[in-house]
Amino acid sequence: LAIASHPNHQSIVKLSEGVAIGGKEIVIIAGPCTVENRLQMETVATKLQLSPIQALRGGAYKPRTSPYAFQGLGLEGLEILSAIRHKYNMPIVTEVMCISQIEDIVAHADMLQVGSRNMQNFDLLKALGKVNKPILLKRGLAATIEEFVMAAEYILSEGNSQVVLCERGVRSFDNYTRNILDLGAVVALKQITHLPVIVDPSHAVGKRELVAPLAKAAIACGADGLIIECHPQPEKSVSDARQALSLEDMVALVHSLRLVAAAV
Ligand code: PEP
Ligand code: MN
Repeated sequence: LAIASHPNHQSIVKLSEGVAIGGKEIVIIAGPCTVENRLQMETVATKLQLSPIQALRGGAYKPRTSPYAFQGLGLEGLEILSAIRHKYNMPIVTEVMCISQIEDIVAHADMLQVGSRNMQNFDLLKALGKVNKPILLKRGLAATIEEFVMAAEYILSEGNSQVVLCERGVRSFDNYTRNILDLGAVVALKQITHLPVIVDPSHAVGKRELVAPLAKAAIACGADGLIIECHPQPEKSVSDARQALSLEDMVALVHSLRLVAAAV
């Protein structure tokens, strides 16, 4: 472990003038799995901007299991995100799946997410190492902690020091919870790297009724923030409907998280 290893400091990654991950404040990134239309994102931003939710998420390019499933709105989705970002003054996190998408995403978003399925797409990681935007690197579906840190190292070694790690659950024998949230990894990553670490309880557990308790546990374990899926009509979500929180539940969760954060 080289650049990512812990030389007794904590990196702080800035998403915008007012929002940084890795400082004292926990940062909550919330929004739908997929950008579906302008009205959906307006509704999400209107509800979430009033609560202490600092950034919005939403995929324009989606890594779907089936090639026949909705693949995202693409550039139209990015344009919606960018309009929302300016109107509500909230930073935007969205996924980049390949090198050819980087330019458009850099122009429209504040943070580029590398999804689990691309955690070891080394060419993509190297290209993101040359970008002047923060990168949210999600743990691979079955990546070891060392592989995860080395993936971050690919970005860091090309010169981009703005990397945030995201634990989102790993595959195991039981899919009752979609994945297994590895909170031990969160603690370990905080100890062995100086990078901010956030948790995605939505993809980790796959069921909305399991999200809030694990979100609290993640903060209790020292996570620097959370990324959580929510939707104006969760059951109508075009992707990951089963794990989407309602906007009301999302806001309520954020308020209860502040109490946990204050106790850590
Ligand atoms: C997502 O954040 O919508 C996503 C696809 O996550 P992951 O890459 O963790 O599966
Ligand atoms: Mn999703």
